[in-house]
Amino acid sequence: MSDDFFLLPPAPARYDPVAVFTEVFADAGLARDLAEALTCDEVNVLAGLLAASGHLTSAEQWLAAHRSTCGHRERH
Ligand SMILES: [Zn+2]
Repeated sequence: MSDDFFLLPPAPARYDPVAVFTEVFADAGLARDLAEALTCDEVNVLAGLLAASGHLTSAEQWLAAHRSTCGHRERH
């Protein structure tokens, strides 16, 4: 058995918390379940972050789910 058998695997070169956050929140089911509970500002900044990170469809899903119960559609 070699000496490096017990070494831990290498850690990822770089942990990107924003990438992890957007990957988790780019979930359509999560948008359906939570979007109406967010304020207009909250859903706007979340959708903006998703769109800026390339999750355009997810950004639209969050906005669409929120708009279904929002009384301020002009804010989105
Ligand atoms: Zn709203």
